[in-house]
Parts: sequence; C-alpha cells; structure tokens
Amino acid sequence: MRIARFEHEGATRLGVVLDERVADITTDHGDDTAALIAGWPQEEMAPIIAAAPRHHLSEVRLLAPIVPRRDVIAVGRNYRDHAREFSDSGFDASEKQMVPDHPVIFSKSAGSMIGYGEAIDLSNDPTGTTDYEGEMAVVIGKRARGVAEDEALEHVFGWTIVNDVTARELQKRHVQWYVGKSPDTYCPIGPWIVTRDELPEIGQSWLRTSVNGEKRQEAPISDLIFGVERLIATITEVMTLWPGDVIATGTGQGVGIGFDPPRYLADGDVVEVSIDGIGTLMNPVVERGTP
Ligand code: MG
Repeated sequence: MRIARFEHEGATRLGVVLDERVADITTDHGDDTAALIAGWPQEEMAPIIAAAPRHHLSEVRLLAPIVPRRDVIAVGRNYRDHAREFSDSGFDASEKQMVPDHPVIFSKSAGSMIGYGEAIDLSNDPTGTTDYEGEMAVVIGKRARGVAEDEALEHVFGWTIVNDVTARELQKRHVQWYVGKSPDTYCPIGPWIVTRDELPEIGQSWLRTSVNGEKRQEAPISDLIFGVERLIATITEVMTLWPGDVIATGTGQGVGIGFDPPRYLADGDVVEVSIDGIGTLMNPVVERGTP
C-alpha cells in the first residue's frame, strides 16, 4: 500500500495511492500520518479504501508523506564506495576512519522537510555548496526499544525516499553535521510511504539519483554497510523509536563532491531520486534570494 499526504482544495488529507488515483482516507486522525500508523487499521483498510472518495493525482499536490514528531535520524558513510569518495573529498571534518566500525548516526531537522515537487531553495545555504544525497528511508511502525536485529523488521511500517540535501561547507565548518544538513527545504521526502508488506525485499531494490536527467548515483540497497536491522538495533539500544519516526539509511557513490571539481546544485536544476518498488522523488532547485 502507498500512503500519501496531499493537499486538495486547500485542505491537507491522507490517502492511499492506487495507480493514477489517490483514495482519500482522512479520518479522525486528520492529516497526521504518525497517528494513522500508530493505530494502523490493517483489517479495516480494504473497506475504508473502497468507501473513500478518489481524486486523480493530477488534481492534488503531494506533501511530505509524514511530519515526524522528532528530527530525522540519518546515517552517514553507509555505502563503501561513497565512504571512499567522501573521505577523498576532505569534507568530513569528523572523520577518523574511512569505513566506520559502528554506524555514523546524526540528525536532520524535521523542519527542513518538503514533499514531492517542492523546491530546494539554495538561498538557505550562504556558502553555495549544496549537494544531493539520494537515500532509502525507513518509517517506524511500532514503538521500539531494545530491539534485537532479528526482530527489527517487525517494527518497520514501510519505506520511502529521502534526498539528504547537504550544505557541504557548513557540514565541514561546523564539524557536527546538524547545521549543514538542516537548512530549510533541505529534506525532500516522498513521494509516499510504501508499506513493508508490499515491498518486503527492499535489499533487492536499486537506488538511483539523477540531476537534469543525467545519472549520478546507482547502487543496490543491499550494498548498505549497516543494514536496516543493525541500524534499528543500534538506535534502540539507547532510545525509544516511535511510530512515524524516520531513519534515512545513507547515500551511495556519486554525490556532487565526488567529482573534481565538485558539481554542486544550481538554480534551475531538477533532482530525481528513484528506488525500485517505491517510485521517484522529484524536486526542482531554485535560488529565491532572501530566505
Ligand atoms: Mg546522507
């Protein structure tokens, strides 16, 4: 099932995407995807969808499929080839070793989220060094604390796509990555959440990123150094994860700073991140001037 948030006639709604249409399943939860996930009515979904009004996707505006109750938890240097290119670029001021022994975990402001088709605004990066990072993201379905790796997937509601847009010079300058990862509009997410039962073998999917139609990144999700199970076990050893929390699992080789000279995003660019079985997250890049 594909769960979306969207705007229709000025109101924010929740929906299930069926081919080119979206069934409006907005209930007492309003547009709160996390609340829907927490009380997920699995057995009732078929009659709810059958009774729901439908709109063509062209009649609605997709929004970030979830507004999490906390910042996005993100993972750095989690594909070997990307770890190498990032190391070679010299932009990681925190680096101790190229391929880490433990997951490199950081956060990205929930306030930086935007949905499909919304613009990444370069005006939010005073250093002019904005880069893309296509990533598979996990959406938590059930409260998780002290979860073992072999039980971790039971706590996953589904998968989505995140573009972990990064202001590289800020990432380097401030050592801790929060500032460089969190400018407004720098967390495109979507286009929707695909439930785990619809895509149980996410490792078999490939992640691809293009800029203006030119392929920049291509990697199988199975190349993750620390997989979904290990990430959930590591995080929940110290903190509780809640329904709707988002974990961005890391990017593959081919980011802008992997090139010499670096190929940063520019006004007028279009970035597309695709994952087999999920879809494509497309965002234009603009530079509006004063943020
Ligand atoms: Mg990243």
